[in-house]
Amino acid sequence: MSADHGVRRPDHAARRAALRNLLVENGVDALLVTDLVNIRYLTGFTGSNAALLVYSWDGAEDRTVVCTDGRYATQVGEQVPDLRAEIARACARRIIELAGEWQTGRVGFESHVMTVDQYHSLVDQGTGLELVSTRGLVEQLRTVKDDYEVDRLRAACAAADAALASLLDRGAIRPGRTERQVARELEWLMSEHGAAGVAFETIVAAGPNSAVPHHRPTDAVLAAGDFVKFDFGALVDGYHSDMTRTLVLGEPDDWQREIYDLVRGAQRAGREALKPGAGCAEVDVAARGVIEAAGHGDRFVHGLGHGVGLQIHEAPGIAKTGTGTLLPGMTVTVEPGVYFPGRGGVRIEDTLVVREGDPELLTLTTKDLIVVD
Ligand code: ZN
Ligand code: ZN
Repeated sequence: MSADHGVRRPDHAARRAALRNLLVENGVDALLVTDLVNIRYLTGFTGSNAALLVYSWDGAEDRTVVCTDGRYATQVGEQVPDLRAEIARACARRIIELAGEWQTGRVGFESHVMTVDQYHSLVDQGTGLELVSTRGLVEQLRTVKDDYEVDRLRAACAAADAALASLLDRGAIRPGRTERQVARELEWLMSEHGAAGVAFETIVAAGPNSAVPHHRPTDAVLAAGDFVKFDFGALVDGYHSDMTRTLVLGEPDDWQREIYDLVRGAQRAGREALKPGAGCAEVDVAARGVIEAAGHGDRFVHGLGHGVGLQIHEAPGIAKTGTGTLLPGMTVTVEPGVYFPGRGGVRIEDTLVVREGDPELLTLTTKDLIVVD
């Protein structure tokens, strides 16, 4: 095994081993996993119908079972060669049947994912198992990224950085073009730079639209003097990048420089607060305080950030209401914004990895105000 093995390929067995500790802590003998992203994380399987059973005790890997339907019979063999695969239409029912045959006692299920109907269909099987509600166990593991994941996130962020640099080089951001045209070109450039797709619907918001936090690109035309806000990301091997930059078309006005500097200062404060052991709410407060002190607290209308990985929004939430503390390896965004309805707004967003000491910045595009002549 080469030294960079952990970077080139995900170590699903190590992730399942980490999950076992959580199952023991939560007093269940096994976990029925039905969330497809969690199944991908634990096995590498990417099909659209699956269930997975993981036991809590060491040495139980021969009882780890992934179930999918006939459409994915070949795919599951290729993607998950190391685990027993069952083929059935109703995957969760088949898994519970097996757990019953193996006389498992307490089986956890993902109660934040399963529907009430699905739950009843499992209970009605009469296997004698005790089904125990668990919430977010695999999601908790997923908050701390392993080396492979950070490597893929780095690649996704690099594709987004390169695409924005190309867009600027090509002179594609100019008066007369529409938000939609610019957004499509940026997305195409991300794919040219290695993205398999977009991480989410690209936001290009010009002029007054920049004051709408989650504006969708329209046929609005870019004009001299506009703020142009880009919030976009690339998808690489299932991992999402997330970055926002706000540019100005032509010489900025004083109010534009002022608001830009304010958001930039708040964003810096947020990044500097990203330390192992810091409370998620504390990090939000660090950035929000800068904007509040300038009298614009009511114009920062969303949380400071979120975890990012196999999903664009995942735990932990970095907000006033956020719970828990940061751990090394967590990958989160820091994205304060200040919005003046009808006029314009600024948001600056980075994706970072929490490290001992300073966080590792993954989105490397400058945060100096970019003035597009
Ligand atoms: Zn974003
Ligand atoms: Zn974000």
